[in-house]
Amino acid sequence: MPRPIILTSHPNRGAGAVPPLNWGAADPQQRGPVIATLQNPATRNAIGTHAGSYALYRALAVASGQLRADHRPDFSNTRPAVPLGPFGAWGDPAKIVSLDPWGHLVPEVYAAELAAGQDIRPSIAVTRAHMNMPEVTQAMRAGRLAPDGEVLLPNGDVRVTKVAIEPVWWLPGVAARFGITETELRRHLFEQTGGMFPELVTRPDLRVFLPPIGGMTVYLFGEPEKLGKPETQVACRIHDECNGSDVFGSDICTCRPYLAHGIEACIEMAQEGGVGVIVYNRKEGRALGEVTKFLVYNARKRQEGGDRAEQYFQRTECVAGVQDMRFQELMPDVLHWLGITRIDRLVSMSNMKFAPIVESGIAVVARIPIPDGLIPADARVEMDAKKAAGYFTEAVPDAAELAIAKGRAL
Ligand SMILES: [Zn+2]
Repeated sequence: MPRPIILTSHPNRGAGAVPPLNWGAADPQQRGPVIATLQNPATRNAIGTHAGSYALYRALAVASGQLRADHRPDFSNTRPAVPLGPFGAWGDPAKIVSLDPWGHLVPEVYAAELAAGQDIRPSIAVTRAHMNMPEVTQAMRAGRLAPDGEVLLPNGDVRVTKVAIEPVWWLPGVAARFGITETELRRHLFEQTGGMFPELVTRPDLRVFLPPIGGMTVYLFGEPEKLGKPETQVACRIHDECNGSDVFGSDICTCRPYLAHGIEACIEMAQEGGVGVIVYNRKEGRALGEVTKFLVYNARKRQEGGDRAEQYFQRTECVAGVQDMRFQELMPDVLHWLGITRIDRLVSMSNMKFAPIVESGIAVVARIPIPDGLIPADARVEMDAKKAAGYFTEAVPDAAELAIAKGRAL
C-alpha cells in the first residue's frame, strides 16, 4: 500500500504545541534544540531541513532506494576537534540570527533528548586539517613567510581548524536586520522559492527556517582557544565564493589572490600569537549565481568600447537587476559566534563588508588592501571600478582612467 503523504502546512490537530525554542537564551536547555529532521513532523520546530541544497540529493538517495528515510546518524567521535565557545553573543538574540550558536554541540548539550529518541542534528562541525597552497610556498620563497614548525611547517603545510556552518535563520531577527516585518519576509521567501515552503506563510508558530542555500566554512589559524579573550589579536578576511578564480585561477577578478593574501595575513597573525580567521561564504557571483555572472562577463567584453571600469557595475545591473545580492547584513553573525569583538587587521577593501561589521559592534583597528603586484592581468577593470565606487583605497581613479578599456576581449 502506498505510504500517505503528510502535509505539514498546518499544525496537526491535537498534537500539542511544537517543542519550545527561545532564541537567544544563554542556556542551551532554556533555548531548546532546533529540530529540523523529517521523520516526526509533530516534533519539528523549524521550517526546511538540514544540509541546505544538498537535501535534494538526500531525496534522490531515498527515492532510488540507497538511503533509508529513517536512518539515524551515529555521532560517536564526531565531537568538535577543538572547543569553541560559548561566548557572550550566544545569549543575545539580536547578535546572532542566521546560525545556531549551539549547532556544533548538539550531541553534547542535547544528549538527554537524543537518548530519549529525538532526532536532532548538528548544523555546525569543527575539525582540524593541514592545507597547502602554492601562494603560501611562494610567499616562503620570497621571504615574506617563514616556517615556525607550529602554524607553518617547512614543507609549506599550514595547520588549520575548519568549521562548516549551515544557515539557521531566526526569522524575526533576520526581518529586523533588513528593517521589514516578519510577515513580509515570510511571504517573499515563500513566493521567490516557487512556494517551496508553505509553512513560511501558514505556520507562524514555526519561527526558525533552514534555507536551502549554501552556508560557510571558517578556517582558523593559530590557537582557537584564544578567541573571545580581549588581549587576543585577530586578523580576518570575509571571502565570498568565486569558483572560477578561487579554484580554477581564472584571471578576470581578484578573488583568489585576495584570498591567498588573506591567508598570508592570517598565518602572520597566528605566528605573532594571535588568531587568523578566514570566513568563506557560499555566495557565488555576488550571490547572483554563476550563470548570471558569466552572462555579465560576456556583456562587459562585448559592449562598445570594450571592458572598462566606468561600465562595470552597470553591466551587472542590466542583466541581474541589481549590482549585488550578497546582503552583508547577516555576515557579522559568524564573527560574534567566534567571540570576536575587535578585528586588528581586516583584509578587505570593501565598505559593504566594513560597515556592517562596525555597525554590529565589532571594532576594526586596521584595514589591509591587496598589494598591487598580486592583481591579475584581466582584473584591472574590477579593481578600478571598485575603487571608484568607494572601496577603501589611497588613490581613487579619475573619470579618464575609468574610461580606458583594460579588460581582455572575448
Ligand atoms: Zn572572482
